[in-house]
Amino acid sequence: MQHLRGWVFDLDGTLTVAQHDFPAIRRELGVPADADILTFMSTLPATEYTAMKAQLDAIELRLAEQVEPAPGAVALVRQLHEEGRRLGILTRNLQSVARSTLSCLGILDCFAAEDVLGREEAAPKPSPDGIHRLLDRWQLSATEAVMVGDFRFDLDAGRAAGSHTCLILPDNPWPELADWHLPDCSALLARL
Ligand SMILES: [Mg+2]
Repeated sequence: MQHLRGWVFDLDGTLTVAQHDFPAIRRELGVPADADILTFMSTLPATEYTAMKAQLDAIELRLAEQVEPAPGAVALVRQLHEEGRRLGILTRNLQSVARSTLSCLGILDCFAAEDVLGREEAAPKPSPDGIHRLLDRWQLSATEAVMVGDFRFDLDAGRAAGSHTCLILPDNPWPELADWHLPDCSALLARL
């Protein structure tokens, strides 16, 4: 991992303690229990889409106020930043919410403004679009970068981009998709 120059992080549940109760959010929005929220929304007519988007944005802002750093996340990001690595965020959340979350964690200064990509700056994961954009900006090849996250979509996006993948989760339900697996950011920092 030491040679990796580009580090792309998922935010919710990776750098923060997961606050998103997705079944509850689906119920609040009226999204079917088995549907991916953003995919479902993209199929709605314009008026309904706009209304649901406003509702989802309000939920995200409410959750951002309760943000808690994941164990080791702040120290990990600080160290990578001090070593001169390129750091990005690729989240299915809003960019504005991501920026205020990073600010609450005290690590917003570790990320260039253009390197925090929300669901309106790039096609949402599992699409590799956001990783491609960051690699273009950083002038790095895919193999010089790693996508770090706590969910299958993070690993799928990293794989589709041709980058390395690192799962941050106590268990590893997707061994075929994760190049590395660590229980939390503290363990990842210790491995560097
Ligand atoms: Mg996540």
